[in-house]
Amino acid sequence: MTPPPEATERILLRATPGTPSLRCPLRWRVSSRARQVSLRIDPVRGEAVITLPHGAGRRIGLALLRRHAGWVAARLQALPPPLRFAPGAAVPVGDIPHLVHHEAAHPGPALLREGRILVGGAEEALPRRVLALLRAEAAQRIAPRAWRHAANLGVTPQAIRLKDPRSRWASCAVDGTLAFSWRLVMAPPWVLDYVVAHEVAHLREMNHSPRFWANLARLTPHRTAAHGWLRQHGPRLLRVG
Ligand SMILES: [Zn+2]
Repeated sequence: MTPPPEATERILLRATPGTPSLRCPLRWRVSSRARQVSLRIDPVRGEAVITLPHGAGRRIGLALLRRHAGWVAARLQALPPPLRFAPGAAVPVGDIPHLVHHEAAHPGPALLREGRILVGGAEEALPRRVLALLRAEAAQRIAPRAWRHAANLGVTPQAIRLKDPRSRWASCAVDGTLAFSWRLVMAPPWVLDYVVAHEVAHLREMNHSPRFWANLARLTPHRTAAHGWLRQHGPRLLRVG
């Protein structure tokens, strides 16, 4: 029988014979676009995710999971600790920790104030409000940079969107639409700026040719440092929220 989509369960996995078993959080997805069963790790939720093509049974998914049990266990154990949006949490904005401060009487949307994230209303709504603030802040920081870099290269983005991809920070579609992870707002401004410049440079060269890197070097000097920062700290940003 096909399981309901998006259900999470915990399953006992033994990575290698003789080692203690691990309670692996597992989410099932059913996709009409999937051609075959696939397995990935969702770093945000800290879960293994099995995607089944429509009509496939879960036995084949479980077999795939058990075959890759060692990989799954290693990936889950390597995840940085999660950082949930809750009162007292230190959420980075531009790489500066901002303490989430809940003040029920604060009217209107959450805002950044004096190194804090000030959130009003019911506490249950706090995570949603913090996320809305960070997304709005990301949009405000990304769009002007994208337009400025685009003007410098003589290109025009079709549209600029915010998303929450799990395996990359940004993308440039063939129609010229640029998409960025809202999580970049947590990175240092020069890293965010590098990622924006990188995607804008793809509007000139849809590849990573020497010409692409030469264009990008006209926009930002931070290629090596930004790649290094994202490699080192990116996994932590994917655990926030
Ligand atoms: Zn690229």
